[in-house]
Formats: sequence, C-alpha cells, structure tokens
Amino acid sequence: MITGAASGIGAASRRTLEAGGHTVIGVDLAHTDVTADLSTPGGRAAAAAAVTERSGGVVDGLVCCAGLGSLSHVPGGKLIAVNYFGAVELVMSLKPALERADGASVVVISSSSTTTQPGVPEDLVTACLRGDEAEAVRIGDEVTAIPAYPASKLALAWWIRREAVRPDWIGNGIRLNAIAPGMIDTPMTNGDDLDPELAKALDFYPVPLGRRGRPDEIAALVEFLLGPGSTLFCGSVVFADGGTDAQLRQQDW
Ligand code: NAD
Repeated sequence: MITGAASGIGAASRRTLEAGGHTVIGVDLAHTDVTADLSTPGGRAAAAAAVTERSGGVVDGLVCCAGLGSLSHVPGGKLIAVNYFGAVELVMSLKPALERADGASVVVISSSSTTTQPGVPEDLVTACLRGDEAEAVRIGDEVTAIPAYPASKLALAWWIRREAVRPDWIGNGIRLNAIAPGMIDTPMTNGDDLDPELAKALDFYPVPLGRRGRPDEIAALVEFLLGPGSTLFCGSVVFADGGTDAQLRQQDW
C-alpha cells in the first residue's frame, strides 16, 4: 500500500513496485485506488478499512508518502495533520494486516530538512510524539508551515525509531524504517502553486551532487527497504540527498 500514490515519490514508487511484479493499492485525495483525506481521523480510518478489505486483510508493505510541502500556502496545522498524524495513525490502524504478513515492512518518507533546517519548534515535535493532534495542529498554525514542515518530519522519524524497536512491532516481524530525501524534483518543489520567492530560494539549497534528486531514485530505495535485501534495517533513517546532510553536519551525529 502506498499513500500519496497519485504524484511524485508515491507515483514513482508505485511504478517501480509494479514493474517488479507487486500488487499495489494506492491511497490519495484523487486519481488512485482508494480516495481518502488523510488530514482527518475519519479519512485515515476509511483508508485503513478500504485497504484492509482490498488486500484481503494482509498487507506486506506500507509506504507513507502523502504529504504537504511548506512552499505553497498551506496552514501549518493542516500540514502537521497530513505529514505526521496521516502517517502514524495509518501505520497503527494497519498493524493487524501487517502482522498477518510474513515479515512486513513499513517505510515512511521523512526529510533531510530535519537536520538541515534550523529553528525546528521542539514543542511541536513533542506534541506530535505525545499523540496530541489538537495541540500539534494549534502550534502548527501558530508557527506556520515553514517551521512546521521539518517538525512534522522530525517527529515522524523519531516515532519510527521509538516504535521500531518495540516488541509489538519487530517482535511480530514488522520492520519500521524512514527515508530522509533531500530536494527531489516533484510537484512539491516544482509545482505551479509554490510561492515564487520561496521557490527561488531552492536554487541556493546545497546539493554536492549538483542536481535535484529524481522520484525514481527514492522509489528504488523504497523498493529496497520493502524487500528481502534489507532485513537488518530496523528503525533506520536513510538519507538520500545527494550529499546535503553530509556537507552540512559532517561529524554531527
Ligand atoms: P507530491 O506533492 O508530488 O505528492 C504528495 C502526494 O500527497 C500528492 O499526491 C497529494 O495529493 C498527497 N496528499 C496531500 N495531502 C493529502 C491528504 N490530505 N490525504 C491524502 N493524500 C494527500 O510530493 P512528493 O515530493 O512526491 O512528496 C512525497 C513525500 O516526500 C512527502 O511526504 C514529502 O514531504 C516528502 N519529501 C519530499 C521532498 C521533495 O523534495 N520533493 C523532500 C523530502 C521529503
């Protein structure tokens, strides 16, 4: 199952997995198998129910790509509701279906903004990790989308690391991992709805590789983390960013 399957990294992941012979159930606001709004508890529950039914109650792999960026005029609270709660609530709702698979794998898409963007609001990260959606949405609206974005992705990566090692996940053979992409060329970074000033600032984003990433490059990593070659990965946050993180915090880990 892939959320955000209609566009960008989610759509590329779908293409890659289907080319490898897998059956994919996509979830998005439109243009895929299951239509659901992951910004609301009702939408998440409906998505989980529809996927459980379509999969016959067994989900081998779950990829959470649905997300809102900070470069278009999105309220910070809505961004938090989709990027953090829209991922972790779905993972938790689908736990029974993941448990029925033989060694399920969950991959969420975090972001290298977690380590490269200064001023991440800690109280927002904490509210997410407490599961206090009302408070997290309130803080997100207050701080606005630009700081809310790395907060949503840091909380997501830390949730993965916290939960991955618990016996009720890894003890049931379910591996939880995250990918932290750098700047990837998708509608989130090249769409028509971006604030032109903020979009211009992306040209100054340091990428030692010398170019933006392509969605299929992240999709290849998604395929690896879902597959049998990655069985030792548990609670990993894999940076795939053309060198940005290494350049900005060489020895800081
Ligand atoms: P994208 O905009 O192409 O795709 C995001 C998808 O999420 C869209 O199909 C959209 O409809 C869906 N979505 C948004 N709100 C939703 C909602 N309420 N319910 C259901 N679906 C919803 O962007 P992308 O670049 O492919 O982003 C995929 C993931 O990767 C996101 O979580 C993003 O934060 C993350 N990411 C992207 C970049 C980048 O540079 N593009 C970098 C780091 C992380």
